[in-house]
Amino acid sequence: MNLKFDVSFSTGYTSSSQIARVLTESWVKQNAFCPSCGNDELNQFNNNSPVADFLCTTCKSEYELKSKKDSFSKRIVDGAYSTMIERINSENNPHFFFLNYSSKTFEVSNFLVIPKHYFIDNIIEKRKPLSLTARRSGWIGCNILLHSIPNSGKIFFIKNGELINKKIVIETWSKTSFLANQKKESRGWTIEVLKIIDKIPSKEFNLADIYMLEDSFKEKFPNNNFIKDKIRQQLQVLRDKGLLQFKGNGRYKKLSD
Ligand SMILES: [Zn+2]
Repeated sequence: MNLKFDVSFSTGYTSSSQIARVLTESWVKQNAFCPSCGNDELNQFNNNSPVADFLCTTCKSEYELKSKKDSFSKRIVDGAYSTMIERINSENNPHFFFLNYSSKTFEVSNFLVIPKHYFIDNIIEKRKPLSLTARRSGWIGCNILLHSIPNSGKIFFIKNGELINKKIVIETWSKTSFLANQKKESRGWTIEVLKIIDKIPSKEFNLADIYMLEDSFKEKFPNNNFIKDKIRQQLQVLRDKGLLQFKGNGRYKKLSD
């Protein structure tokens, strides 16, 4: 994997947004691999494909690329809010590549993938409708909230300019790929529990540490009266999937970061 963009691809383009698109897309095509199966060949869909930007020729996983120059923000600007929510609910959503690069050196600073199974309603933020004077007045866009995604759902290929070993990328992906087979509601619970565990700084914790945050679950699942049962059930799921170890007497150990 080469950190630098091949600027020869931008020959003939004049608009900066087109140049950015061509350089980021060609970089992904030449350097990225499918984190789901390890295949190095990602085919590009035609421009303006409504579905996705890249297709793995082996496992047929689809990826959409979002790029941002310079600062690495907590929000990724996306398209129409209603389309996004519809896509999440129909499960007809590609995985997301997120590329962050320096506009001075044309080098990649961060490159990560967010698997589609981490997309639940509360990671999508509704933006304010466009003003009356705007060309598309009333149109409502959305942001993807990176900080609302648990660490296990942000799978880095390159982090702060450092390359991550391909084997680790694929292992990290496969650790939580079971989420793809969960129904939306239980997936939502697993993801919330993963987020809470991320917030606990130590490797080991008690059930009480999680129960303390019961209120944040109540906010997200107002119709559920069995929050504690649900939390314990999710901890068992994470144990069965090898993400947690039960130490006995309500003590748990994280097996990954
Ligand atoms: Zn693949």
